[in-house]
Amino acid sequence: MSSGTDAGSLGSAGNPLRVAIVGSGPSGFYAAEALFKSPVTVRVDMIERLPVPFGLVRHGVAPDHPRLKQPVLVYDKIARSPGFTFLGNVTVGRDISVPQLQATHHAVIFACGAESDRRLGLPNEDLPGSHTATEFVGWYNAHPDYRERSFDLGAEAAVIIGQGNVAVDVARILCKSVDELRTTDIAEHALNALAASRIRDIHIIGRRGPAQASFTFKELRELGELPGCVTLVSRSDLDLQPACVAELDDRNNFNAAKNVEILRSWATHSATMADKRIWFHFQQSPVAMAGTGRLERITLERNCLTGPPFGQSAKGTGATFDLGCGLLFRSIGYRGLPLPGVPFDSLKGVFSNTAGRIGDKPGLYAAGWIKRGPSGIIGTNRADAVATVQSLLADLPLLDARPKPGAESLHAALAGGSQVLAYDDWRRIDAEEQRLGLVLGKPREKMTRVRDMLALAGSKQESCHDG
Ligand code: NAP
Repeated sequence: MSSGTDAGSLGSAGNPLRVAIVGSGPSGFYAAEALFKSPVTVRVDMIERLPVPFGLVRHGVAPDHPRLKQPVLVYDKIARSPGFTFLGNVTVGRDISVPQLQATHHAVIFACGAESDRRLGLPNEDLPGSHTATEFVGWYNAHPDYRERSFDLGAEAAVIIGQGNVAVDVARILCKSVDELRTTDIAEHALNALAASRIRDIHIIGRRGPAQASFTFKELRELGELPGCVTLVSRSDLDLQPACVAELDDRNNFNAAKNVEILRSWATHSATMADKRIWFHFQQSPVAMAGTGRLERITLERNCLTGPPFGQSAKGTGATFDLGCGLLFRSIGYRGLPLPGVPFDSLKGVFSNTAGRIGDKPGLYAAGWIKRGPSGIIGTNRADAVATVQSLLADLPLLDARPKPGAESLHAALAGGSQVLAYDDWRRIDAEEQRLGLVLGKPREKMTRVRDMLALAGSKQESCHDG
């Protein structure tokens, strides 16, 4: 067995540290950035299940929030670093296994996000008409997985369960006029469907109180500024019990205090003030969903809050009431998916890890939502990924120091299987999307079908051969 010393120590120019990063969203790119900024010589192979990069920045950030998409400019710079290889349209666990990645790389960082959703655990949760917010967000953001979904926007009311920023995004997209949306990069199929929407009332339902809502105050405030839309909160929901007041008095709980201040300013609003109405409901949980063939109504139970400040949980009071509802979005948080060969914490829905290290043997790491769960904003993933890379670099003396083949060997293993897309292929897709967008007066019209993306990339390969 040769030691790494023949070729040079691990992380030297003669024996670069080869890292596979699984996932091309924010945490994947920030991990790549931290590796390139480190003193060791690295080669980064980024593996992405979709043909195109950028994960939630492309398919999660709302189309009317273009500023939040600006990190892609940074990611694009990182992708141009010498030693960076993108392998798009490759699914780890299907096209390539974790042991194969370990054989071809010194270390693997999983930055694959939280691809699934928490569940309410109610019978009939999946009745037609009841959707995860993920489906709706993916649909309006042109995610290929959700291209063919349809939502009954012919109803007058929509219910959103959960009070986080995803719920706010869904409510805002339902409220905005198509004229406001048509100059964004919203998918054209969604724009056309929203143009025929009859939704007038949007109910955002939280199991706890206004002081515990997860919205960030800027996102919440924006709902109150939408033209033609009124935000409604009942005064009685803003009568806070002492534990809630204590929470709001805490200096570190600034965001919650701002949320409550904004909600209080809406308590005087009248329901007749606008075309569209966003209703906030607190201390209510869905306990049943019913309908013949599709969702027609939900039963909500009133909750009380029990526990000390910052430890308050919702407890059912037994008092229930029905709400007619043909369209419902469950926006109660995301959840990571397990992968064969990687220890999984099924309670938290993350890869079991300590400071980003997975398992006892150095070599496997996690960053971002698959490491800590689905929390924080895009920028939160930078510090998170840096911390994981620090763990990896601290483990350097413990890693198998023999030279590894990296992407070259992956390409060989993948030959004859799925078409693998390079970062240059993404550039062509990017250019095509911008061209399509120009015609429609949008920054881009995203391609929504994997086969179209592959065909565009394949046509280049063929023309190279021809030429
Ligand atoms: P979130 O912020 O964790 O909110 C989830 C909501 O679902 C909470 O109100 C939670 O209530 C509720 N919930 C959880 N389980 C429930 C159950 N069984 N029954 C009823 N309600 C339940 O999650 P998110 O909205 O999906 O957002 C994920 C992350 O992305 C967040 O960090 C968010 O800030 C971020 N994000 C940011 C932006 C932006 O910056 N513009 C946009 C979108 C998303 P409890 O508090 O009682 O658990």
